[in-house]
Amino acid sequence: MRIKSFLLLTAFVLSSVPFSLGQSSPAYDLVIINGRVVDGTGNPWFRASVAIKDGRIVKVGRVDGSNAKQIIDAKGQIVAPGFIDVHAHTENIYDQPMAENFIRMGVTTLVTGNCGGSVTEVGEFLGRINEKPLAINISTLIGHNSVRQKVMGLDNRAPTADEQKKMNELVEQAMKGGAVGLATGLIYVPGTYSETDEVIELAKAASKHGGIYASHIRDEGTGVVDAIKEAINIGEKADMPVQISHFKISAKSLWGQTPMALGLVRDARKRGLNVTVDQYAYPASSTSLDARMPTWAIAGGREEGKKRLADPESRAKIKADMRKGLAERGFVDYAFAFVASHRANPEFNGKNIAQITKSVRNADSLDEQIEQIFTMYEAGGAQMVYQVMSEDDVRTIMQDPFTMIASDSGVREFGSGVPHPRGYGNNARVLGQYVRDLKIISLEDAIRKMTSLPANVFEFRDRGQIREGFVADIVIFDENTVSDKATFENPHQYAVGFSSVIVSGGVVFNGEKMTGTMTGKAIRGPGYVAKPSGSE
Ligand SMILES: [Zn+2]
Repeated sequence: MRIKSFLLLTAFVLSSVPFSLGQSSPAYDLVIINGRVVDGTGNPWFRASVAIKDGRIVKVGRVDGSNAKQIIDAKGQIVAPGFIDVHAHTENIYDQPMAENFIRMGVTTLVTGNCGGSVTEVGEFLGRINEKPLAINISTLIGHNSVRQKVMGLDNRAPTADEQKKMNELVEQAMKGGAVGLATGLIYVPGTYSETDEVIELAKAASKHGGIYASHIRDEGTGVVDAIKEAINIGEKADMPVQISHFKISAKSLWGQTPMALGLVRDARKRGLNVTVDQYAYPASSTSLDARMPTWAIAGGREEGKKRLADPESRAKIKADMRKGLAERGFVDYAFAFVASHRANPEFNGKNIAQITKSVRNADSLDEQIEQIFTMYEAGGAQMVYQVMSEDDVRTIMQDPFTMIASDSGVREFGSGVPHPRGYGNNARVLGQYVRDLKIISLEDAIRKMTSLPANVFEFRDRGQIREGFVADIVIFDENTVSDKATFENPHQYAVGFSSVIVSGGVVFNGEKMTGTMTGKAIRGPGYVAKPSGSE
């Protein structure tokens, strides 16, 4: 007993030495005082100081701030974990290393590679952070479409056994490089040409290395039920968690059916399959103009598509398919389809297809609207905003406990193009509009959906909570003023109400501006195998 307490005493004295030196060696790099902590678990806020040392949260509670290099006074504000956006498209992150549109709405971690499109050299992509620092944490999925295109081009057919094997190997290689799972985009070329079995094989390759299956499902309109079932089936066959991306119903004829669609997810969870979903908080989607065309019509790329349009017979068939698809989804024309960016004629930006057809062709008919879509497709296509969802459905989805908040956005070059406003406002919109103004969900639950829920599912085990030992990804904001400013007409407006954003221990945004601190980390998945030669 005596020896033991002597050892303990010695240890105590030794560990106390740096403390006793006082000013020359502060105990903490940063202490956040006077804030209300919403810790990310969904628990009600509590008052505590948060102390950070070497990039980690080392104490939550009563902390003597005089022993810190830096103090942030969060009086009257919320201190929460940094937001994790599991549905981003930021393959070009190293060209926009500040990721200012994300940081300024509280996002500290991105998962890119969604909807089937990713880099294929994942190890290299994540390793680049060593030469090119980022202000935000980055992780990635491996995209089915990218892998398929590399092996099979844009062919509209099933893979041969050899091609399937090559694709499986690319997925495994990506998982070992640090990917967090497999992503599909089954409405996009060439992923849309795949049968379920092909995806199951690839999902198994990712599952072997601890990956998740994240899917932009095959149909978010009239075929949404079958598409959700397909995603769940793939997860069950490959024995892995399933993330259904940007969960929605985009057929007007099915608006209000959201509880039934969410029920499919709930049933799968009852069976023991970890299915979760994410959502952006807007009743409008954003994708290409090409998505309005039948997939068979655009197979093989734009030049092939143009050839089909030049043939009167197939042009008529394309038109008929588009009319049929529109009617099935419950729309009478293309007034729901707004141009975000049409390079060939930027004057179209911000207008819908009905308005454009009226001004260019002086016509109102659906036939002329389709002709206008053909003209724009032939001129290189366009980035579009589609007002295809019901606000009630958006709210119902948000209230489900397994729904995460994610933007489906890229890094934005300020002022360039007319992108979907979610890239500037998504998280702020949830906190301002849906929590504060509409009271659809509580503040604590909203933050849980942005932090610990995604961290659990994507296995970011030491992020997503204000908790001792966790990485110091932290956001400080005023719950009374937090708001999104970006609109469909004028999207390049940063969110407001955030006073500090801390990424892996570094303050990257403070007060009014980015600080230039670049403390983002690459977050690698459970299958990651470190290279032996220090090349990481
Ligand atoms: Zn998508």
